[in-house]
Amino acid sequence: MVDIGLFGLIVVAIAAGFFLGWRQRGRRLQEDTRHFGPKYFKGLSYLLNDQADSAVDAFIESLEVNPDTLETHLALGNLLRRRGEIAKATRIHQNLLARPSLTTPQLHEAQLELARDFIHAGLLDRAEGLLQELVEVNSQYKPEALGHLIEIYQDEKDWDKAIEAANQLNHRRFGRNNGARAIARAHFCCELAEDALERNDVLDARRRLQKALGYDRQSVRASLLWGQLEHSLGNEREALKALQRIPHQDPELLVESLDLVCACYERLGDHKGLQRYLEELLAQYPSSSLAIKMAEQVRWAKDDYAAADCIAEHLRRRPTIKMLNRLVELHLLHSEGRARDNLQLLKQLVDQVLEAKPSHHCRKCGFAGNQLHWLCPGCKTWGSITPITGVEGE
Ligand SMILES: [Zn+2]
Repeated sequence: MVDIGLFGLIVVAIAAGFFLGWRQRGRRLQEDTRHFGPKYFKGLSYLLNDQADSAVDAFIESLEVNPDTLETHLALGNLLRRRGEIAKATRIHQNLLARPSLTTPQLHEAQLELARDFIHAGLLDRAEGLLQELVEVNSQYKPEALGHLIEIYQDEKDWDKAIEAANQLNHRRFGRNNGARAIARAHFCCELAEDALERNDVLDARRRLQKALGYDRQSVRASLLWGQLEHSLGNEREALKALQRIPHQDPELLVESLDLVCACYERLGDHKGLQRYLEELLAQYPSSSLAIKMAEQVRWAKDDYAAADCIAEHLRRRPTIKMLNRLVELHLLHSEGRARDNLQLLKQLVDQVLEAKPSHHCRKCGFAGNQLHWLCPGCKTWGSITPITGVEGE
């Protein structure tokens, strides 16, 4: 089938290029048009015969590359890339790089676009080489090149290189959006801390976590990892010190630390301390998970009925499906006959509702899923995913 969209795109691009050329070089218009005519119609015939690759070649040849028509070539290449026509976009950008008539900044712009083509094509090694060159020669496109290099190193999980590239970006006058870059660097350090923990290298893990907090004092991930590390070593007080920073760093993420906090207090045998801590948190940051943890403490200290009353009290103030589910579970333990059958049915329905609903979402792009990703799979933002709140969540 003839690709009408592509045809339109190329014709518009060339028409724009000719207009620019005509404006600059009125006298040469007739000569250009004589050259343009046969190649233009040759390209058209390729398109009509469904040979889009040959058509792009014909159009590349038909529009001379010079500083006046550069933008047209770049616009066509970028439009092709956005349409997913990566091979054609690559050919257009490679054609530009082969032209000595362009200035150095113009060649660098074409090189950056070619690197973007390679990234889209998954040819990360080739993209990396082109981008590193732009960084080394201190091109005006260095910030963009460093930004893409960071994305590549993230994909390759080469965290040391990602930190190095982010540091270079930060030292420059163009270091806008420093907050997001600090958050990203803290996550790179946390990734390295996780690697160290896998190797049982506790000293290196602590060093990496300290660095993460140096980049971003609000790094919940660093505090959580620190808590896990100390808890695994039996240092419960140290673990709690790290974990109890989390409500101040980002209250929305404190539910992620609750299991570990409870495990630390339980290992210390300090149930009263845990109950006091949960009460304080509930007063400031009410959530389903906190109320359920609190009810577990009441259950341990008293019985199932007292735990059910605790849940019911929080449910009245803040109705959520998770708390309703827990309340039904507690009543099921002590019901019989028809009441038990009906509660069982209710529990099945509530379980189905909970299974169908995601537990986490991205504050930036709305991506939703059932686990906490530190890097959003939707928009590739670090630290943008939080537990969902409201009736269907916390
Ligand atoms: Zn997102």
